[in-house]
Amino acid sequence: MKIEARRVASIFREMANLLSIKGENPFRMRAYRKAADVFQYFSGDLEEAYKKGELNNVPGVGKGILEKIGVILKTGRLPAHEELKAEFPPGLMEILSIPEVGPKTVRLLYEKMGIESIDQLKEAIKKEKLRYLPGMGAKSEENILRGIKLHRMSQGRILLGRALPLVQGVIQELTEKASSFIDKISPAGSLRRGKETIGDIDILVTSSHSSALMDAFISLSCVQDVLARGQTKSSVLTPEGLQMDLRVVSPNCFGAAIQYFTGSKSHNIALRERAIKRGLKINEYGVFEQQGHRIAGEKEEEVYESLQLSFIPPELREDRGEIAVAEQGSLPELICEKDIRGDFHVHSTWSDGRNTIEELVKEALFRGYEYLAITDHSASLKVAGGLSPHQLFNQVKKIRELDSRIKGFHILTGTEVDIKGNGTLDFSDEVLGNLDLVIAALHTGFKQDRKTLTSRAIKAMRNPFVRILAHPSGRLLGEREAYAIDMERILEVAKEEGVWLEINAQPERLDLTDVWAREARRKKVKLVINTDAHSKDSLGFMTLGVITARRGWLEKDDVINTLSWGELSQIIKAKRRSD
Ligand SMILES: [Zn+2]
Ligand SMILES: [Zn+2]
Repeated sequence: MKIEARRVASIFREMANLLSIKGENPFRMRAYRKAADVFQYFSGDLEEAYKKGELNNVPGVGKGILEKIGVILKTGRLPAHEELKAEFPPGLMEILSIPEVGPKTVRLLYEKMGIESIDQLKEAIKKEKLRYLPGMGAKSEENILRGIKLHRMSQGRILLGRALPLVQGVIQELTEKASSFIDKISPAGSLRRGKETIGDIDILVTSSHSSALMDAFISLSCVQDVLARGQTKSSVLTPEGLQMDLRVVSPNCFGAAIQYFTGSKSHNIALRERAIKRGLKINEYGVFEQQGHRIAGEKEEEVYESLQLSFIPPELREDRGEIAVAEQGSLPELICEKDIRGDFHVHSTWSDGRNTIEELVKEALFRGYEYLAITDHSASLKVAGGLSPHQLFNQVKKIRELDSRIKGFHILTGTEVDIKGNGTLDFSDEVLGNLDLVIAALHTGFKQDRKTLTSRAIKAMRNPFVRILAHPSGRLLGEREAYAIDMERILEVAKEEGVWLEINAQPERLDLTDVWAREARRKKVKLVINTDAHSKDSLGFMTLGVITARRGWLEKDDVINTLSWGELSQIIKAKRRSD
């Protein structure tokens, strides 16, 4: 069995959490947590990297961790992890997965009240028992209850950023194992529509030899359990509890089937109603006339054509008005990943990033970009190694020097400057005026009321040096809801000031959301799609940002980082927006 880096990350993360519940040496705990962060989004073959000794120099991976990785790769498990797990009731880990509940709280609940499960926790909150624990109050009860709701909602769903590589891996492995049996293959469902979280995964395939294909499918390396194995459909479970279905369809129905299984449900209902009005019937086998004569089904485009609609890209199929617009033939020409010419939000080793500026630039060149902005954190964000004005000054010098040595590529100096409690920025205008690109971001005070949060952001946006507002809603999928910011108002001010709003492409952020991105476009606010990468591999999150932009109906012209360097440099030449 192949061990994935994700598995290693989850073992280390669990160890860090268990040690923390136990109240052990914080140093050991941090070592595990750091290692977990490293391997969470590790791309490439972990076993190969380990054998070649490539892990030896990775920051955050010490000798002890390295040894443990060796054990996990060899046996699939880690005895120290299992022993630690055996010390606590299994329900504690589930309590820990509730947003708002950290290891210290879990320990408190367990030791003082004997709470071992989420149900017991809910019961205790109902009886208002938690508020009398040290450091707790009625407010904490409320917060935890909201956390439980958020947790229950996200259960059984995984992030698009996790599902996408998983499915790509499955399709690749399946194609390698059974290439001679596979004709067409494609994911369907919410994954194909690019939703931010995915419930289960549907894959459609046409095959001349479905029995052999099913055998290959149920023996894939990511299969934990086989739920069903049939002639035309099989279902399996992955280690993270995700259900994955493979469905064999006949080649002449593939278009109708992929349309049908891509959904969304409400989009399909609307299509069906439209078909009925025209005296047609639509299902997973095709579009039929009253007498049963089939008029479409082999190609997906034909399905829409037969209903007098232009082709609706999967990302738009949410019954948000796309059918009416497709009828008029005026769907937007959606932005594509190849339209992106650079990334404006990237962290280097100068703050909390894991790669040097040189490494990041190399990766950007590899991706075919024309420009990259280095935007490390500012001083007040100490946990993220924020730069002092002096350090930033040195970084700017270094970047300008590096930039002058690389031909045909442009490195922008920048910062992700913290918006302080009173809405002022962490750097003076004098410091900001020395930079090519200033991003402002809220990183504190998430629980403030709507008025306070909104006015902090607006004050920052009124600063003439600020070009971009990062991750505007602050939500973290499955962990933290958007803060109480007045987004309508933010859009208005963005329009007034010419500040660009970010679609942050981190898998757990995707912020702005598709819905707000569309609203921004309606209001003619410009957007940027940034990865907020903390390592060179994370520049690849751009895919997720572009999918979100597509779901927000965005075209190339709505997004600033599709501009050529010639066009962009004209804009940012002026350090102040209004100049
Ligand atoms: Zn940030
Ligand atoms: Zn950032």
